[in-house]
Amino acid sequence: MPMVTSGKLFSRLSRRVARLLFPPHCAACGSQLDFQRDGLARPLHFCPLCTQRLSADLADCCRICGAHCPRSGIGLESARRPCRYCRGFDFPVEGCGALGNYGDLLQRLVVQMKGHRSEVLALQLGQLLGRRLRELEWISKVEALVPVPVHWSKQLQKGFHGAAVIAEGIRRELGIPWLPRAVSSTRRTAKQGMLETAERYRNVAGAFAPRIQSELEDKCLLIVDDVLTSGATMTAVAEALRDAGAGKLYAAVLARGIRSAV
Ligand SMILES: [Zn+2]
Ligand SMILES: [Zn+2]
Repeated sequence: MPMVTSGKLFSRLSRRVARLLFPPHCAACGSQLDFQRDGLARPLHFCPLCTQRLSADLADCCRICGAHCPRSGIGLESARRPCRYCRGFDFPVEGCGALGNYGDLLQRLVVQMKGHRSEVLALQLGQLLGRRLRELEWISKVEALVPVPVHWSKQLQKGFHGAAVIAEGIRRELGIPWLPRAVSSTRRTAKQGMLETAERYRNVAGAFAPRIQSELEDKCLLIVDDVLTSGATMTAVAEALRDAGAGKLYAAVLARGIRSAV
């Protein structure tokens, strides 16, 4: 019989008491969560309905860029085939996993996360993304997570690094370590959301540099960010990682922005 120390027993009991006194609520709609009723072995931060709304059907998600293409069945294809959003585009990584397209409830939560600089929400969405990634066949090859870095002046100003917290959520779900300082942002860039596609590429070109080459060499890495739209930031980070001799690269983002052409 496994030995349970009094410290562990106490923390387990206090967690149960806290759950009774302050029952957890869905981070999206606020409804009370009931893990036993919902048949969950351990806590999820979203109710089953919101989880469903936040997770697009993988069978309809492009295995290259992560875009959700409803009723296309593109995710079922065994051959690697680009979707209408990444066709003719030299996608910077081998494959990308996303919860869904940037819109509806997912967009509302990402806007809320960034606007309120909510680490709690970033962590919860990161964990949900981690569960999603578990369904992708390449995830078992990934050796480390690399969050898209933010310039030190922006970090100081905002006090929030969303990509890093999302990576922490993925780490908690999948146990893959993350490399917080493997790549750095070498200069402050303009907000990508305000720019046209070509300007986005110019804005971030050469804006990232590898720092600890030994951590990256020949490693299969997963680049983590909040939203992927034009692919400009992902391309610039992937280039920095390749310069350091990284192996295969994959990406994970909460949402795939498909309004701008890629
Ligand atoms: Zn809900
Ligand atoms: Zn695609």
